[in-house]
Amino acid sequence: MKSSSDLFKRAKKVISGGVNSPVRAFRAVDSNPLFISRAKGSKIYDVEEREYIDYVCSWGPMILGHSNELILKKVEKAMHNGLSFGAPVEAEVQIAEMIVSMVPGVEMVRMVNSGTEAVMSAVRLARGFTKRDKIIKFEGCYHGHSDSMLVKAGSGVLTAGIPDSLGVPRNLAGDTLTAVYNNISSVQRLFEENKNQIAAVIIEPVAANMGVIPPEEGFLKELSCICRQNSSLLIFDEVITGFRLGAGGAQEYFGVEADIVTFGKIIGGGMPVGAYAGRKEIMEYVAPCGGVYQAGTLSGNPVAMAAGLAQLEILNSSPGIYEDINKKAEVLGSGLEKIVQKHKVPVTLNRVGSLLCMFFSQNPVTNYQEAKQSNTKYYAAFFKSMLSKGIYLAPSQFEAMFVSTAHTYEDIDATLKAVEESLAENIALMEEL
Ligand code: PLP
Repeated sequence: MKSSSDLFKRAKKVISGGVNSPVRAFRAVDSNPLFISRAKGSKIYDVEEREYIDYVCSWGPMILGHSNELILKKVEKAMHNGLSFGAPVEAEVQIAEMIVSMVPGVEMVRMVNSGTEAVMSAVRLARGFTKRDKIIKFEGCYHGHSDSMLVKAGSGVLTAGIPDSLGVPRNLAGDTLTAVYNNISSVQRLFEENKNQIAAVIIEPVAANMGVIPPEEGFLKELSCICRQNSSLLIFDEVITGFRLGAGGAQEYFGVEADIVTFGKIIGGGMPVGAYAGRKEIMEYVAPCGGVYQAGTLSGNPVAMAAGLAQLEILNSSPGIYEDINKKAEVLGSGLEKIVQKHKVPVTLNRVGSLLCMFFSQNPVTNYQEAKQSNTKYYAAFFKSMLSKGIYLAPSQFEAMFVSTAHTYEDIDATLKAVEESLAENIALMEEL
């Protein structure tokens, strides 16, 4: 039988760091990655045939769980018609119509291949539309790895402790200004210091790459007002929240409309898909209608579109699906809170809908600085204990736990039991740290 450790050894010889995306290397939890062979429903299986309840869910896309039969059927059908044509297909129109019908304020859509590409294109569009260069982002928010966005980013960048990235031109980074999440005066200040220069403010409406941090009451509305007052655009990066907080994503959930919205993850049903979308007057700036160039050989790929469309159709047509998933996350969250209180472990639990994070910190976590106070060593120990009990959590303190419709209440009970045992096992360590 193959083993994860053998595969990782081979991988490290031919793939930088042995992985194709940094967080997967498990460095933040001082471990080696599992190689996964298959997945079904709420479970994933490693190459050694061990079963795990999966709360990573491919970092968000698998909201219906793994290997959903309906999605697989649609993908198979599309696949037999040909893998790629580089020409328009009906599924592109259908998915765009579906997105327009589901998401508030969206009149037009452009499909791309990843969240990074979606954000990179949205930022270019905002700059082209406003004829301005500067962008405001928030410390600890991650928007993919395009040059402009690798400034005080979250997710793997935060995990690896890399403040920025080598190779990002200084001049370009200089046009990315950073504000403090949940702090409107930090945004106001940047607008005052950069009058008529801000093209857009980009935000994860729920920050989910520095753990999970909800926007405080009124914060997103105030952001939208400031943008309007300054003729700047508001970009909601809904790569995680889109189609997760509800059919209409964060805009619907919080009742705030953005000018441009970016998507990824769920929109592809597990295939590499992203999209950016907005009002017609803005989207028509994109080539071939307008002067903002953006293109893609595989954009709108028929197999990827079939997967995404199938997933969105299920989400859009199943009454109660979001109530169900949020209820499961609530049961999980309240169970976690009871256990940490019982063991007197300093944990702050943040939850929005089906996104959760256990911060190993006794203080409220409302921004990046507060998130960074978490005890990452303790998280690593907790992570390892949980993994040994068959629970697959994100290999970093600064990532979300994703609940899917495939998680059962039995899964949640088993998870809570493992949490109880893992905390008890590590209590001595907690006192040491
Ligand atoms: N934006 C957000 C909010 C994300 O969470 C991510 C990835 O995790 C991205 C953008 C980048 O997406 P991708 O990894 O598909 O390039």
